[in-house]
Amino acid sequence: MLKRARRGTKSSDFNITSETLETEIESWVHEERRRLGEILLDDGIIDADQLLDALEVQQSSGGRLGDILLEQRHVTEYQLAAALSEQFQIPLADLRVEQPEQEAIDAVGEELARKHNVMPLRVEGDGRVALVTGEPLGVAAIRELTEHCKKIRLLVGARDDIARMLDQAYSALAMAHEHIQAFELVDIAEDEAQVISLEVDENAPIVQVVNRILIQGVRARASDIHIEPHEKEVRVRFRIDGALSDAIALPVRMGPPISSRLKVMSDLNIVERRRPQDGQFSVVVDKRPIDVRISVVGTIHGEKIVLRLLDKTRSLIPLHDLGMPDSVVERYLEIVKAPLGMLLCTGPTGSGKTTTLYATLTQVADDTKNVVTIEDPVEYQFEGINQMPINEQVGITFADGLRGILRQDPDVILVGEIRDVETARIATQAALTGHFVLSSLHAVDSVAALHRFADMGIEPFLIASAISGVVGQRLMRRTCNACRETYEPHPDHVRLVKDQTGDLPAEWTRGRGCNICSGTGFAGRVGVYELLEVTDRVRDQIVHRATAKDIRETAIAEGMRTMLQEACQLVVEGLTTVEDVLRNVYAPGMESGEPMDDHFDEPTITLTSTPTPPPFQGAPTQHQGISL
Ligand SMILES: [Zn+2]
Repeated sequence: MLKRARRGTKSSDFNITSETLETEIESWVHEERRRLGEILLDDGIIDADQLLDALEVQQSSGGRLGDILLEQRHVTEYQLAAALSEQFQIPLADLRVEQPEQEAIDAVGEELARKHNVMPLRVEGDGRVALVTGEPLGVAAIRELTEHCKKIRLLVGARDDIARMLDQAYSALAMAHEHIQAFELVDIAEDEAQVISLEVDENAPIVQVVNRILIQGVRARASDIHIEPHEKEVRVRFRIDGALSDAIALPVRMGPPISSRLKVMSDLNIVERRRPQDGQFSVVVDKRPIDVRISVVGTIHGEKIVLRLLDKTRSLIPLHDLGMPDSVVERYLEIVKAPLGMLLCTGPTGSGKTTTLYATLTQVADDTKNVVTIEDPVEYQFEGINQMPINEQVGITFADGLRGILRQDPDVILVGEIRDVETARIATQAALTGHFVLSSLHAVDSVAALHRFADMGIEPFLIASAISGVVGQRLMRRTCNACRETYEPHPDHVRLVKDQTGDLPAEWTRGRGCNICSGTGFAGRVGVYELLEVTDRVRDQIVHRATAKDIRETAIAEGMRTMLQEACQLVVEGLTTVEDVLRNVYAPGMESGEPMDDHFDEPTITLTSTPTPPPFQGAPTQHQGISL
């Protein structure tokens, strides 16, 4: 357990019992040392020009040299940590592999650790607490940490790692355990009165546990929280970067009161336990207002609850930063800036369609236009744009909202999602009558979206004239940089990448799994897009009911880069893995060019026909109320 400092001098150890503590701290902090820039220069990390550049910035706008070099991407977090270790002559701690001890985490406590951004690593044999810092600490910080821990040793580590490890170590869920114990001590009767009375008390264990789950979900950047009653436990999972991972397991008995608590928060009927219900509520976590959409469904072991978290303060991603190649952005802008027509965004739930639509909206909105949105729910509030939330419970659907909006002289209309024939029909009509419509649709790819429209009963000639472009998109998982390793790829994978891009990565890499990426090998996401432009030839093919395969081939011949190509390009650039491409983008038939869908020979209805029952029964109703 005890790991001696490799090269540590006594000077990074501080002891409360030392009579000369104050002087030791002062002299350590103010000691004459080699300059950071000099160390980085000598180690060949930066060159003289880069250093001069950074020093100039420092001169004019202040700040630490390390921060400036990081900002300018001349050094990595790890190179900076290594240089600081050299400068201060204190050992380097690699938090990607080091496992912090609970004893140390408890000894320092969340407040102090976060205040000084130090990650407690271990308690050494003599009770000395080893703390990892990412930047030089000041006198006051060292004094406070020494007073609290009695004996400390300072180590240096990468700042990003420290921030992430702090979130993990002081996870809100780790602190849920005491409330779970408290809950187990209280004998809960099954009757509702008891359950409700618990809710009144904000300190009740159940309230605390629910709060902890929500707080941790938000901090972990989860898009959804799943609370699943099973036979022996209630499993809580978070969806982060598109994949579910276990967050905590709770005693089975906590299931019913948790669901009651959440139902009360969202004004649902707490007695109803069998019929599915959905609702919403808002919470504030770390000063951020979060909208929560809740869906409750009765399962054999109790009610399964899914919470979708919408962070209203998240920043909008500009169109140019979404990950579309510049040439695609250019053509895309031409389409969306036209005075009329329709642009559809397609992909499965969680593929970032809303992000793309919002980024587009900021590009097309200006003071000369009346821009109106109809959304379910409104995920981000724009200044100067009229946003209308739909509310199916009181009977305001996308179709109703759209009809209302059309009477208000709109220029650009964003319809959150086209999920029924009526909305599809009104949107098509709007696009044909001098409005620009932006919307999203559940479909595998851009070409499939055209077929979805036809399946909904819109006549091909109307589709051909109304739709000006379709974006197909996916979010790929980014390979974790902290644990990247090289590996020998499967021959099939090599072939796929070579076929799609004509190129191969210089080195095949993947994430091994580390503390930083919770063992998944992935951290963060990156988008891939394909833009189908409805050109004269494509339009002609739609009118003549061509197969998906034919339309796709035409689009490719006219320059469309497919999602599969784009995703494989990311593999070449080392940003993601073939496994993730196969999981996310690859659909059988894409490679072989087989038609993915039936073509347009289903019975179709025309726009002007009287209301006919929609010919499609497979509308994604399961997403209603939770997804955009
Ligand atoms: Zn990793």
